[in-house]
Amino acid sequence: MPSFMQKLPKKDSRPFGSRGKFSTMKELQNYFEENELTCLLCGKPCVQLVAHIGPAHGLSADDYKEQFGIPWTYGLAGKAFRRRCSLRMKALRRRGGLAVAPSPGHIRRLVAAAKKRRPPVQAVRDDSRRKLLALHGKKEKWDAEDFEEFLRRIALGRTPSEVGRDEDMPGANWFRRTVNRDAALGRRFRRLWDSLSHAVHVRTGKLGEKFKRDIVRLRLRDLPWGEIAAALGVSPSTARSAWHQLKKRGTLAAACQLASRTARRNASMRKGRVRRARKSARQTRSPGGRLPA
Ligand SMILES: [Zn+2]
Repeated sequence: MPSFMQKLPKKDSRPFGSRGKFSTMKELQNYFEENELTCLLCGKPCVQLVAHIGPAHGLSADDYKEQFGIPWTYGLAGKAFRRRCSLRMKALRRRGGLAVAPSPGHIRRLVAAAKKRRPPVQAVRDDSRRKLLALHGKKEKWDAEDFEEFLRRIALGRTPSEVGRDEDMPGANWFRRTVNRDAALGRRFRRLWDSLSHAVHVRTGKLGEKFKRDIVRLRLRDLPWGEIAAALGVSPSTARSAWHQLKKRGTLAAACQLASRTARRNASMRKGRVRRARKSARQTRSPGGRLPA
């Protein structure tokens, strides 16, 4: 092990060559806390790291920042050196050697640069995400327990969009993604969803196949719209418009056919049962007729 490695402070848990990106602000802080920054490519401690990585590794400062997830605005130099630079600039400004406000040309350049700003590095993104979660009183992103609570609220007769608007619940998009990713959870949700009344389904703007079948079945019985709507738990206008939509789409004929075929089958099964019942009744009344010759 090279001697400078032994001198590395304990708190810097990133041995050089791990090559991963910094993932927390704490890690970055520890790295930039030193007066000599350890080159993460070869382990050499450097006061002015930016002057080392070019000649030694052929990297620009931005390449290095990109590779290790260092925020774009950080200077690649040790702490004491950065402080000296800062003091020098402040003194220069005090002496009037620096303009108080940026020139119009400088402002134009800043505005142009802001337009093609690079996305924040991982550590910065993680940090803002953590702050956002803390704001909602959470440590980690939504977990299994949140999903259970989401389902419980749906079971009360609410749609995923409605539950997703609750302050303390993840959004409906999170719910949809979770359901699509996990097959078992998806099955549980669909079973629950199918068990809810049409009155809930109608609020999502989508009515399922069962609703169409039910509406056709009831309509073919010549029930008034008020009764059909009451049976389905929706408003009469919803029931009527669903019927007319089916009609407009041309799917009504097929749906009616299916419904009447089902009805016929049920009726014939009923008739069959009645015939068999009558037959067996006759047989019990005259058992003599069934005696073998
Ligand atoms: Zn190096």
